Amino acid sequence: MSEVIEQRFTSLVQPHFAALYRAAMRLTRRRPDAEDLVQELCLRACSRLDDLAAATNPRAWLMRAARARLAPRVAALSKATGIPYSRVSIRRQRSRWGSCSVRGTISLNTCLLFQRPEVVDYLVVHELTHVRHMNHSARFWQAVERHCPGWRALDRELLDGWRHVPRWIFTDS
Ligand SMILES: [Zn+2]
Repeated sequence: MSEVIEQRFTSLVQPHFAALYRAAMRLTRRRPDAEDLVQELCLRACSRLDDLAAATNPRAWLMRAARARLAPRVAALSKATGIPYSRVSIRRQRSRWGSCSVRGTISLNTCLLFQRPEVVDYLVVHELTHVRHMNHSARFWQAVERHCPGWRALDRELLDGWRHVPRWIFTDS
């Protein structure tokens, strides 16, 4: 299929995203990984929207998808590490992947949707560890290491992770 046809198709499909999402959920419901599969399909379509300036805004959908995928990881890793948190906040940011407030709010960037699950888990462990250590001291990194031995490579991958984020995420419509 040519690039032009693919883009045209995406522009026609995009306004009906929510309905498509529901239809895809119905079709894949019997698969144990249905939710992941649907998000993968929708994200793939989304990432092709770069050149469609007139496309309607898919960012609200992205925020919901980000919450659906990221919040359970925070809950699971909080349980695994024994580190409590108060709530999860999802934000669209250009500069940082996540943060942790003194009140224990874990903020995560919606752009994490475009990173590998291992990278996302590392970032979540990183932010959870800030609940205990509000700095990047040696003790902080030791604690990260305990729960995520491969953190160095994952941290490097995350630094470079912006190249996986489609440009339309930050274009104002
Ligand atoms: Zn940090």
